[in-house]
Amino acid sequence: MKKIKPRLFAAFLIAVAAILASCETFSASAIPAGIANAPPLNQTGVVSLAPSTESEDSASGDIPLEADTARSTAADTAPLSERETAADTSAADTTDFNAKIFTLVPRFFDLDEKTARDYLAGYGISCTSQYESGGKKDLVSGIEFYGSWDEKNLYILTGCAVTLKVGLGDEAIVSGKTAYLTFDDGPAKENTYKILEILQKYNARATFFVVGNSVKRYGEQFKAIYSAGQSIGCHSYSHVYKSIYASRETFASEVKLWEETVGELDYKLFRFPGGSANAKNYEAYKDIREELNTSDYRAFDWTMSNNDVWSVSRAGDLSPVEYEKKCFSEQLDRLDAAGRPVIILMHETYSSTVEMLPWAIELLTSKGYGFDTLDNYNGDYYQ
Ligand SMILES: [Zn+2]
Repeated sequence: MKKIKPRLFAAFLIAVAAILASCETFSASAIPAGIANAPPLNQTGVVSLAPSTESEDSASGDIPLEADTARSTAADTAPLSERETAADTSAADTTDFNAKIFTLVPRFFDLDEKTARDYLAGYGISCTSQYESGGKKDLVSGIEFYGSWDEKNLYILTGCAVTLKVGLGDEAIVSGKTAYLTFDDGPAKENTYKILEILQKYNARATFFVVGNSVKRYGEQFKAIYSAGQSIGCHSYSHVYKSIYASRETFASEVKLWEETVGELDYKLFRFPGGSANAKNYEAYKDIREELNTSDYRAFDWTMSNNDVWSVSRAGDLSPVEYEKKCFSEQLDRLDAAGRPVIILMHETYSSTVEMLPWAIELLTSKGYGFDTLDNYNGDYYQ
């Protein structure tokens, strides 16, 4: 058996983000007799499973002791005859991690959870599973284990359980708490694309309350929203309060013009520029509400915002992004504690919103929220 320095063992908690680089099939005959062909263990360090910007070997030597302790218990259960004495004690923090046996497992891909478990069981490896929102439902998208790997094989430390990362697909979006991200005032020249890209990365859904004349101007961006499968709502044609709210008739004609520009949708969502009750529509409010009630539109105010419209004027010493994050997390905490609906107002027209959006999505996810669009909301929402 190849001699391997013991310090290396503790050095790799290995989490392989996508096991499935190679499209190799496997069969019982592919199971190797031993680990004689294990490659040099040069892949040390902590490799994150999360979408990571760190390179896999950047954390070399940075060993999570807690994880080591937990895993070494399992490793120490390997038969004594299969262990080797520590020949190299130069790494003091790794001396108790002295099992040195690997099981070679050909990489696999696109396996469902059960098949992956059976496959690994064939090598004597037991698994736990972690379920993650998004991904392909029930398919294993990654594996976390102690050991090493190369293009074709995983070298899993014998005696250690592994953790499978299993996708939940769209189910994660509609289960549990739901957040409704909404973006007003677009489409916008650059930001629309950036927002769509972020939503796609996190497999998150959102509702875009677009303005008719912006749709005319940024037709490609509008089409991108539509083809990304995000939802679209009416936010007037002109966004000019004076014209929209002058009378019931002007209000109706703004909606009609918007419809002529945007076209038919399966659902009818509306957001009042400035909110349903604002200083500009005070006089015509009753008429306008009546007008909307005669249509199939459901109107949505919001329950929280990142306050991007004030991120310059009211931020004080904070940067716009810092200010928006602060507003966002304070308001979310209040709603979350009260169990109120989370309908979030943001604007496509602010770059600071684009910048803070990944953080906001991650915060919501960490609090157990999934994302859905307002056409799936039950009823309407007025403040
Ligand atoms: Zn607006």
